Amino acid sequence: MKILVCVNHVPDTTTKVNIASDNISIDQNGVNFILNPYDDYAIEEALKTKEKFGGEVLVCSLGGDQHKETLRKALSMGCDKAVLLKDLSVRDSFSIAFALSEFAKEYLPEIIYVGKQSIDYDDSQMCGLIATFLNWQSVTVVVKLNIEGSKVIAEREIEGGHEVVSSSLPIVISAQKGLNEPRYPTLKGIMESKRKPIDEKPAAICENKILVKKMSKPTAKSKGKIIGNDISAVKELVRLLHEEAKVI
Ligand SMILES: Cc1cc2nc3c(=O)[nH]c(=O)nc-3n(C[C@H](O)[C@H](O)[C@H](O)COP(=O)(O)OP(=O)(O)OC[C@H]3O[C@@H](n4cnc5c(N)ncnc54)[C@H](O)[C@@H]3O)c2cc1C
Repeated sequence: MKILVCVNHVPDTTTKVNIASDNISIDQNGVNFILNPYDDYAIEEALKTKEKFGGEVLVCSLGGDQHKETLRKALSMGCDKAVLLKDLSVRDSFSIAFALSEFAKEYLPEIIYVGKQSIDYDDSQMCGLIATFLNWQSVTVVVKLNIEGSKVIAEREIEGGHEVVSSSLPIVISAQKGLNEPRYPTLKGIMESKRKPIDEKPAAICENKILVKKMSKPTAKSKGKIIGNDISAVKELVRLLHEEAKVI
């Protein structure tokens, strides 16, 4: 089976991200980038699918040369091939999904895995958009997956519970935390990944549909107030919550 997994290169969760002077992008100076955490689950499920059905896992990312680092990590986890869809222009989700789906039309996978969202821009649009461009079905926030023949049974996380759905290949699956336990790259995997080539292709062009007008940080929280540290403070606390904070 040909399996495609799409991965994004995002700022490390511990990085303090600042807004660039243009007010519409993030300042990448000093930012450490990592493989998008939800993509670890997507890669693991792609590898498990290959272990069950045979075939190959191709990992693909759209962006600049820095994305190679992320692709290399995916290769060290066990992906067979990597493709960088090279593009440095400002792209929205629509345009990225278009380019990824055009690549899928070339590669012809039976299943595409993506993460449930990128932890930087949080659009969560890729799964549905890629499926729409390909005219495939898609299932989002998947926490359990079983593929038998061309039949797909997926368990999704929904508010307050889980939902089990059935569908069929070809399909786009968005991976949620809990879908599996992502493997760590082994030393052998890391060494082998250095020998695996990363192919570069120009990303298919499509006009953006969304224009970022402004980015801003949340307003700083006002300092906390200590009213007292024994029961005598309760009356004043209730008054302040009622009259100042207006929450009760
Ligand atoms: C070259 C470039 C320039 C950009 N410039 C700007 C900018 O100036 N301002 C701005 O606001 N945004 C910018 N972006 C970010 C871009 O708009 C978002 O990354 C895009 O909208 C995807 O949304 P998301 O990251 O929230 O994806 P989601 O839909 O949340 O991602 C879900 C999943 O889709 C897959 N995926 C997402 N992105 C990629 C990718 N690039 N390659 C492969 N798989 C992917 C991953 O599996 C991911 O887990 C840029 C992105 C690129 C690649």
